[in-house]
Amino acid sequence: MNLKEVAAMALCQRCGNENSYIHLTSDSQTERLCLRCYNSLMAGEFGVEAESYPEGMTIRDGKGTAHHFEIRKRLDPLHIFMEAMEKKQGGYDFKVMGDLYTDQGELLLQLIAKAEREMAESYVEEGTFPDGQRCHSIRSGRLAGRVGWNPAGGDVPLLAIDGKSYTWDEFGKMLLHFEGFQRKLEMLDLFEEIEWNNSKQKKEQGQ
Ligand SMILES: [Zn+2]
Repeated sequence: MNLKEVAAMALCQRCGNENSYIHLTSDSQTERLCLRCYNSLMAGEFGVEAESYPEGMTIRDGKGTAHHFEIRKRLDPLHIFMEAMEKKQGGYDFKVMGDLYTDQGELLLQLIAKAEREMAESYVEEGTFPDGQRCHSIRSGRLAGRVGWNPAGGDVPLLAIDGKSYTWDEFGKMLLHFEGFQRKLEMLDLFEEIEWNNSKQKKEQGQ
């Protein structure tokens, strides 16, 4: 069996739920399923049930702004995946993964803890020029975010930072303050976690 997640919203072919997003394909047929039907199919095959979990939660970032997340859990033959996704352009998206027999309550706590850690720091400061035009700057010389799909098309992605979307042009203007500086770029998948060497930063600040 091959699995393919599709972003398009469509009806689940088993229960009619509008929230289907998994394509299940075998050699002879393709079936589109919602998460609940898919997980119960996996439970039938592998004997592990997707235990109940909250469908949504709200977490405040380091500035106190509330972000509402949709929570998903998905089983596969070897793993359990959990995702907290803010349903808006450029919103935060966090994922964790455990083996199929992992403690599912613990996995949810890991997801929440990861979201809290990564949302503790905000990277972009919004300001206003004297003429009223909005501007953005990088607060502390470092920045983390996610490369995102650009609904306007074209061949340049959007950048999701602090749960918001920025165009490549806006990002370029933020870098103007750092002309002559070096730049470090590292790509991590969503299951990994962005970690900073804070001791190095404190040393540079003479702390
Ligand atoms: Zn269904």
